[in-house]
Amino acid sequence: MSGEQGLAEFDLIERFFAGVGPLDKTAAVTLGMGDDCALLSMDGDDLLALSIDTLVAGRHFPLDADAADLAQRALAVTVSDLAAMGATPVAFTLAITLPSIDTQWLQAFSDGLRLAANSYAIPLIGGDTTQGPLTITLQAHGRVAVSSVLKRSGAMAGDSIYVSGTLGDAAAALAVIEHRLSVSDAERDYLLGRFYRPVARIGLGQSLLGLASSAIDISDGLMGDLQHIAKASQLSARIECEQLPLSAVLQAVVSREQAIQYALSGGDDYELCFTAPPQHHRQLMALSSQLGIAVSRIGQVSNGEGVECVDARGQVVPLAKPGYRHFSG
Ligand code: ADP
Ligand code: MG
Repeated sequence: MSGEQGLAEFDLIERFFAGVGPLDKTAAVTLGMGDDCALLSMDGDDLLALSIDTLVAGRHFPLDADAADLAQRALAVTVSDLAAMGATPVAFTLAITLPSIDTQWLQAFSDGLRLAANSYAIPLIGGDTTQGPLTITLQAHGRVAVSSVLKRSGAMAGDSIYVSGTLGDAAAALAVIEHRLSVSDAERDYLLGRFYRPVARIGLGQSLLGLASSAIDISDGLMGDLQHIAKASQLSARIECEQLPLSAVLQAVVSREQAIQYALSGGDDYELCFTAPPQHHRQLMALSSQLGIAVSRIGQVSNGEGVECVDARGQVVPLAKPGYRHFSG
């Protein structure tokens, strides 16, 4: 589940799944539940980073979604958790539940999956195929050095907060898909592309090793995901809403207030949010131009707790309640 039921999801995980089986951190399990990936020790300095994600038809994507898009999105969502830890993709497994054997649909799904798997250099090595309502589960396996792995818990007071790319496009795409927002064909293509074909920031994540102090991928919305960093690092976070990176298309199709709300609480962008000490700022900007990926400084972490966003006058910007997501009509 990726957070749309807010706290209840984390309470549920904590109550029913935390502490199942003995967890001996001196053995193979270096990091259990609670971050973007679990970390298992391998030979030498390396850790195996593991993450699993499920997409349910009618819940996480519309029932009539294009099969190739769906495959690309499913892999990006899972690989994005590897990016958040700075891990290098190794392999993935796929459990797919299909309502029927539709070879045309399967061919398109396979084509999309191939394209994405090639772009992340990650081979499919196993899985399970069953019949039932359309559900796609992918587990990604990655490799990362124990000495530099990025966790949610590494932020230090005074570190700057950064995000990659632009935020809020996927939330606007959802509004288009659900007929809450009408846009031109070109704007629609751009926004839907951002929703269906997010790009997991693998290269950026790897380059942040040794530069960033903590990281998370933005799956549930910036404020919610940043809260995980703040909580795990026992700090507070303050965002300056003027600094939020918004695409030209997003700014053209909704009001500035709405664009900021989408950027703060809309999910599905799969950009990275990370913290880094101020002395790494220049190097991060150089990295950004080298990779051709925008990196924006949007705030700072400090002692205390909680996450807030302030406007140019320092006034706290209230968060609109994120809409309930459903596609089943
Ligand atoms: P993400 O959005 O990064 O994919 P989630 O919000 O899905 O992460 O999960 C938060 C944490 O809880 C992760 O560490 C995940 O492995 C763990 N988790 C979620 N569901 C379960 C479950 N059913 N059993 C065990 N751990 C779970
Ligand atoms: Mg994640």
